[in-house]
Amino acid sequence: MKFDIEEFRQRRKTDFEGAWHAGPSVITPPAAAGIYPRYTYRRAKVHPIFDTIARLREAYLSMGFDEAMVPVFIDEQDVYRQFGPEAAAVLDRVYYVGGLPRPNVGISRERLDAIAAITGSPVDEATGEKLMKCLHGYKKGKFDGDDLTHEMSVALGVDDGVVVHILDTVFPEFRELAPESSRTTLRSHMTSGWFLSLAQMWDKRPLPIRMFSVDRCFRREQEEDATHLRTYHSASCIVAGEDVTVDEGKAVAEGLLSAFGFTEFRFQPDEKRSKYYMPETQTEVYGKHPVHGWVEVATFGIYSPAALAEYGVGVPVMNLGMGVERLAMVLTQAEDVRKLSFAQLYPPVYSDTELAKAVGLREEPQTLEGRRAVAAIVATAAPHANEPSPCEFPAWTGELFGKTVTISVAEPEENSRLLGPAALNEVFVRNGAILGVPDTEKFAEVRAEGVPTGISFLYAAANLAVARIEEAARLGEGTSVQVKMSKHPSDVNLKIEEYAMRYVTDNKKKLDLRGPVFLTVTSKIQ
Ligand code: ATP
Repeated sequence: MKFDIEEFRQRRKTDFEGAWHAGPSVITPPAAAGIYPRYTYRRAKVHPIFDTIARLREAYLSMGFDEAMVPVFIDEQDVYRQFGPEAAAVLDRVYYVGGLPRPNVGISRERLDAIAAITGSPVDEATGEKLMKCLHGYKKGKFDGDDLTHEMSVALGVDDGVVVHILDTVFPEFRELAPESSRTTLRSHMTSGWFLSLAQMWDKRPLPIRMFSVDRCFRREQEEDATHLRTYHSASCIVAGEDVTVDEGKAVAEGLLSAFGFTEFRFQPDEKRSKYYMPETQTEVYGKHPVHGWVEVATFGIYSPAALAEYGVGVPVMNLGMGVERLAMVLTQAEDVRKLSFAQLYPPVYSDTELAKAVGLREEPQTLEGRRAVAAIVATAAPHANEPSPCEFPAWTGELFGKTVTISVAEPEENSRLLGPAALNEVFVRNGAILGVPDTEKFAEVRAEGVPTGISFLYAAANLAVARIEEAARLGEGTSVQVKMSKHPSDVNLKIEEYAMRYVTDNKKKLDLRGPVFLTVTSKIQ
């Protein structure tokens, strides 16, 4: 809050200690949501795959590679030209592009009568003619499929909604259409796009050409598993130039991967020997990472002149590529690429800090004065927790809703103590369990290793009490609020957000916020 500068300036001169100790009085007491870990600066989560892509793009650009977008749709014939005898095996793993054929729809008298039965008026010859033209135009591709309904509604002079009904009942052939495949495939390797690109540019630009693209590839995997997706990202580059050798691959691998913290590199001939690479050039790159050790991270090779010649390309071309998802798995130590890529489709995993943010209060005072009263109740009750009863301690006097209110903490019954034994329990989250624990030897580990929520049972109960005292003060009344046994979080004014409750129960974690609190707070209007 704002404070009086002059007052502190003067007090400092006459009573330095006093001015120093008065420091906390200028802090606005926060509501429960204003206490860490509920109060935080939240950084939006970046997707690990797109984050890796962003870093790869940066790394390529910093090495002088120009960014390209290479074709996704690859004709089957190109796969033969690039992969030679291997093409059949590659084609087994590609998606062919298919679609619905456009049916040849005839218009008979019965159909026109059926339409008339729906629209309620006979279809004359001219309208039948228009409808025929419309369906013919559709077959010939004169307009898109999603415009068919509208075009038919114009031809028939009826509403779009009626046409939908007509299509459904009079022209069942539309519903029965089965997709047909073309000979076009979705690229399974970036290489397919690079050959098409090189054919166009290799002799029209200064050499060497250095280009990269980080983009999707598609594989018709029989099944997705922990390391295979049906569509993944490849970070691929080419260097085309007269003097390109395998050392180009080694140098690019080191330059690129050192940006990800890899420090040493080993190059090993790849057993795979793809036919689009020159013999003896296909190389696996292993990188040593300070955290993850030696891992296979990339493959490079020099395109075979036999394949390049098919595209009229007359210089050696080095190609290096890596699976982005696999690199991201290494960097994040993920075990399953499906969960890494489509995290939202899987049950969430919350850290203890994230769960601690989900623990809050059900009721709180609405006024700043009310919050001060809560702090005063806690400050008064905690040191007197074990005071024998009956006993009463004045905690706070101040203004609530225009009334002067005095608040005390009391235990009217005999042979007890001011507070119950669990009143000073604090709520911690440890390994997914939400626990209210006292400051004793038995729970030392929970308190040391767990994440504190910044909420004690006393603090929670005091908030409830002052919220009620405020309500009463508004009506000009005093009141007495008692919190007894805590069996459920709500008994002690604690609120666990629904998603956190769900997480706790789904993962069979413990939720234990039980215990005897026995706090009595009374208010009087003066
Ligand atoms: P794997 O043996 O793992 O099935 P591959 O050797 O057939 O892969 P390549 O054709 O060499 O794969 O593809 C190069 C890189 O692309 C692989 O090392 C991998 O990082 C990545 N990759 C290939 N297929 C997939 C996929 N289905 N999902 C995710 N990444 C893949």
